[in-house]
Amino acid sequence: MKITHDFHVHTTLSLCANETATVDNYLAIAKRLGLKKMGFSDHFGKPDISGARGFYRAHPLEHNLSLKPIVRERSTPELQLYFGCETEYFPLHRDVAITEAEAEQFDFITVPNSHTHMIMPKDYIGNYQKHVDFMIQAYEDTLNSPVSRYITAMAHPFDAVCCPYDYKILIRMISDDQFKRLFDKTAEKGIAVEINTSYTKGMTPQEIADDVHIPMFLLAKECGCKFIFGSDAHDDQHHACFANADLIADLLSLHEEDLAEICR
Ligand SMILES: [Zn+2]
Ligand SMILES: [Zn+2]
Repeated sequence: MKITHDFHVHTTLSLCANETATVDNYLAIAKRLGLKKMGFSDHFGKPDISGARGFYRAHPLEHNLSLKPIVRERSTPELQLYFGCETEYFPLHRDVAITEAEAEQFDFITVPNSHTHMIMPKDYIGNYQKHVDFMIQAYEDTLNSPVSRYITAMAHPFDAVCCPYDYKILIRMISDDQFKRLFDKTAEKGIAVEINTSYTKGMTPQEIADDVHIPMFLLAKECGCKFIFGSDAHDDQHHACFANADLIADLLSLHEEDLAEICR
C-alpha cells in the first residue's frame, strides 16, 4: 500500500531541527513523494519537566502557534496540512505534559513514551528492566490521562531515543501479553500507533522484514489499533527512507481501514 501521509514533521521551531527544516522544503518533498497530507508536529510540553526544562522552555505555546496561520494558508485540497505537536510525558505527574486548553489549539497531538534520554531518571540507564518498566508506565499513564481524548497517536512507541545501547533489546524484553494489554487499551481509546520510519534508516528491506518492530506492530493490528506514519524529519534529508513506509504497510498487510481517520 502506498502511504500518502506524514504526520511527524519538525520545523525550525523545534530546537533539535536544523535550518533546512522549513515549510517550503517540506512542501517540495511532499510533492516529490506524492503525499496528500502532512502534519507538522513540533515539540511542545510543560517547561518544568525534570531533565527537559531547557528544552521545553524553548517551545512556549506562542512560539509553536506562530506556525498555525502558515499551515492554514499553505494547505491545499491536493496537499492538506495539519498543525500538531509532539508533546511529552511528565513522569512526576504521571501524566501528559499538556493542558486541555493547550491541546485545543492543535489539529492533532502525538505523545512519546520513549524520550527516555531526557525525562527518565539517569540511574535507570543501563538497567534494562527499569528502562522497559519506565516506558510501559509512561505508555499506560498516557492512555489513562485526563487529556487522552485529544491524543491522536503514540509517537515512536518503545523506540528509546538516543539510547546508549541497542534499544531493540528493550523491545524484545516486552512480552506479547504485555503488548496486548497496552494495545487493547490503545485501540479502545481510539489512539493510533505511529510507525516512525526513522528507525529504518540504513536498513535493507530484508532487515526491515526481520526486525523486532514488525511483530510489535502486528500485535497492535491484532488488537484493533489504527496506524499513522511519520518520518520524524528534523531536516530536508530525513525523507530518504520514507519509501520504507510502503514496505512496512505491506509487511503488516495494512489497508485503508487500518489507518487512523485523520490520515486517510
Ligand atoms: Zn520523539
Ligand atoms: Zn519527533
